Amino acid sequence: MSIDEVLRARDFRVTRARQLVWEVLSSSESHLSATDIHERVHAIDDSINASSVYRALALFSDLDLVRESHLGELSTWEPAHEDEVIHLVCERCQSTTHFNTSTVDRLRAQVEEVAEFSPTSIDVQITGLCATCCSST
Ligand SMILES: [Zn+2]
Ligand SMILES: [Zn+2]
Repeated sequence: MSIDEVLRARDFRVTRARQLVWEVLSSSESHLSATDIHERVHAIDDSINASSVYRALALFSDLDLVRESHLGELSTWEPAHEDEVIHLVCERCQSTTHFNTSTVDRLRAQVEEVAEFSPTSIDVQITGLCATCCSST
């Protein structure tokens, strides 16, 4: 389903800002901050202001279409995906890589069994240095 169809199916209007925010998010190879998103949207259509971008992100967040990750003070965004992924975040260039592992599944099972807690979402993030930054030291 395209974002237009998703929005219409839930009775939300399709706006240029919503379309462009989605286009930028889904074509990005890594997580983006709201500022990055605004810059990229603005480069495509400079009539779209930052508050439209923030409102589109808030709506996508309400609809569970995006996933927000926190890196210190900074929030980054990406299209929603399964929990069974660990985020590897580079402290230097802020790039984010997805690392697929069954560890998250095992963690969920353990939390349910041992802590008797039923997780709705699991967000594991590892910070460090990516391969590019490691080799440029
Ligand atoms: Zn890096
Ligand atoms: Zn992710």
